[in-house]
Amino acid sequence: MKYIGAHVSASGGVENAPINAEKIGATAFALFTKNQRQWVSAPLSEKSIDLFRQRCEEFGYTAQQILPHDSYLINLGSPERDALEKSRTAFIDEMYRCQQLGLDRLNFHPGSHLNKISEEECLQRIAESINIALDKTDGVSAVIENTAGQGSNLGRSFYQIKYIIDRVEDKSRVGVCIDTCHAFAAGYDLRTKETFEQTFAEFDEIIGFAYLKGMHLNDAKKDLASRVDRHDSLGKGFLGNKLFEMIMKDPRFDNIPLILETPNEDIWAEEIACLKDMM
Ligand SMILES: [Zn+2]
Ligand SMILES: [Zn+2]
Repeated sequence: MKYIGAHVSASGGVENAPINAEKIGATAFALFTKNQRQWVSAPLSEKSIDLFRQRCEEFGYTAQQILPHDSYLINLGSPERDALEKSRTAFIDEMYRCQQLGLDRLNFHPGSHLNKISEEECLQRIAESINIALDKTDGVSAVIENTAGQGSNLGRSFYQIKYIIDRVEDKSRVGVCIDTCHAFAAGYDLRTKETFEQTFAEFDEIIGFAYLKGMHLNDAKKDLASRVDRHDSLGKGFLGNKLFEMIMKDPRFDNIPLILETPNEDIWAEEIACLKDMM
């Protein structure tokens, strides 16, 4: 089964996300479970949790179709003690919110060294942060997203992600989300059958498809290896529609949330319909 959706708004409460997803014909969705630009949000109310669960059931969204995303403020590899502690606390809170909502995975960007510690040291901190969070929560997997490698953000290569996974104690609760725009910006070509097969063979060899817990389907506004994170609508950027067609036809991408983070939300319904047609 292919589960296709978008990162929908949860404004007014998480319980609105499944409604917004259903409206655009999505069979998957992503959401923020709290304000993504604030460190602290009020706990989820009993009412919000109940409504969220009810609506997911009503519209047929199970945990494997939902990919919550954490706040952009969190840096689990921060070189600064205070910021690291703050990030870890916030991340545990996000994991806990997912747990309350009956969700089983939380997508996050690994972290940044801010040019103050080595890449290796930063990756070790990220792994330690994941271990702490897994220890303090239950049933939710930490899903590491590959990045474009912009600035000092780590996670641009499959090797860096593998380095983190290797240091996570509970391998059953760590996963990976591959963002097509980020992969391309980081230097992984995906435009032709050959380069697509080569990139995902490399992914399978280094990380393994067993760890793939979600995908972000985005076209790219910048060319290969730009290290710039700029999403484009499907078929409008440097990647082109052939990639998305290859993903839709490939059973290795079954049964995980395939999420649009494309810039024009007015055409999400159209993009989702178009992806469904490619299957
Ligand atoms: Zn993404
Ligand atoms: Zn991005």
